[in-house]
Amino acid sequence: MKNKVLVSACLLAQPVRYDGAAKTFHHPILEQWMAEGRLVAVCPERMAGMGIPREPAEISDGATGEDVLAGRARVFTAVGEDVTDAFVAGAKAALAAALANGCRCALLTDGSPSCGSRSIYDGSFAGRRHVGSGVTAALLRRHGIDVFSPEQIEELREILTA
Ligand code: SF4
Repeated sequence: MKNKVLVSACLLAQPVRYDGAAKTFHHPILEQWMAEGRLVAVCPERMAGMGIPREPAEISDGATGEDVLAGRARVFTAVGEDVTDAFVAGAKAALAAALANGCRCALLTDGSPSCGSRSIYDGSFAGRRHVGSGVTAALLRRHGIDVFSPEQIEELREILTA
């Protein structure tokens, strides 16, 4: 059995984002992995019971998913609801799926307060990003699972085939 890859469901055309849209990632490598049955699709926010549509959320005050896991930061929606517990629950559910399927790597949507692996929004809801990861990406990394953004899919393929 080839190594499986955890993937953000919205990259696979599933309309699970806060606004009810997908973020479909068209790439021949992803299509090949799909045909090979290697993809494990997860949406941490849906796994935590968040609805569609839902209020957009950001990690507060320029903090990161690591800060959230350490209890130093919270996640708020645009209307000020504290959704930290749901984001942590979603991260744990995604981790459980990765472990159950033997995933050593993940390909996650960048920019998301859950799935972002290189950059996330800064909590101001002003469209500003900074370097950092979302809550799910941070939890996966804590458990030794490498997380990649879509732009890094060729790098991920190299690692998987090494
Ligand atoms: Fe996509 Fe992840 Fe957001 Fe779900 S939590 S919509 S999989 S970026």
